[in-house]
Amino acid sequence: MKKILVLLYHGVTNFKAGENNNLRNYNAKHLSKTIFEDQIEQISKSCNVISTDELIKNWQAKIEYKKPTVVITFDDGFQNNFSIAKPILEKYKVPATFYISTGNITNQKIFWVDTLEIMFTDTVIKEIVPKNMPFISDLISKDIQNLTLESRDNKIKILDKIKQKLKLCHPKKRNFFLENVAKELEVEKSYSIKDSHQDYSVLSWDELKKIKSNSLFTIGGHSRWHNILSKLKGQELEEEIYGSIKDIENNLGSFSGHYAYPEGQAEHFNLETIKILKKYGVKACPSAMQGLAEKNTQNLFNFKRVMVGIDQTSNSYLKKYLNGI
Ligand SMILES: [Zn+2]
Repeated sequence: MKKILVLLYHGVTNFKAGENNNLRNYNAKHLSKTIFEDQIEQISKSCNVISTDELIKNWQAKIEYKKPTVVITFDDGFQNNFSIAKPILEKYKVPATFYISTGNITNQKIFWVDTLEIMFTDTVIKEIVPKNMPFISDLISKDIQNLTLESRDNKIKILDKIKQKLKLCHPKKRNFFLENVAKELEVEKSYSIKDSHQDYSVLSWDELKKIKSNSLFTIGGHSRWHNILSKLKGQELEEEIYGSIKDIENNLGSFSGHYAYPEGQAEHFNLETIKILKKYGVKACPSAMQGLAEKNTQNLFNFKRVMVGIDQTSNSYLKKYLNGI
């Protein structure tokens, strides 16, 4: 067997998605606890589940897998990784790697995509009026004709378009846009974790120490502020990468050499990113491109994962893989 299944989770939740005009977890970034436990139970029974350290070792030794092999990873560092996912992973004794954005953790700050989601939930504005709202209009350009915010589906369309645009911006430009979107929606530009729904909470360093103390688990880097690494150059890029590794070393005692690119599509990293990651001791960095990981066509700095939750194709990948490909 040449291909292995590297799963990419973000969060696991006990809550149903928000209803009506509440956009919380509209894209199923946080998987329901029951579905997650079913998946882990099935995987642990029918597959060989290996850690990211074993993945590197096997990759370099060109090992052929005899049994379907799965690697479990979590991106970002949501609090429910500790409170909900960890006990389930421990129950089935499966290893997992948690890639964390250290700036959000140290500062207990909500991710910018989630901040945007809360802005669109909180706004009482009923429609985007282009002449009064030049920033939002510019971000959604001519792609969206329906400008009402009264329908949940349309709100989601507008929000997704803005997220997609801002994911391609330099962080300074992104923050500038976010502030102006907040002004145009007449809402706050930032929200505190304490006052927000639990699905928006991030891990604390204490929780990460407890995760790390179980040898099943590995902690890896995922930038400081979830900034797009391909949009940074020179000093800024070094700080985002080296800073996040230093944060892990300072708070957890050591760095594992594992890292994952924020967003992780082809346009979100490049050769300079990989060069700096290697310079600071990173041994492997998966992408978030949807697919099975394979040695012949991919390497340890671009291998594919299957995103569970947001990307609905994950169900068919899981089914096909578990039934033997
Ligand atoms: Zn991420």
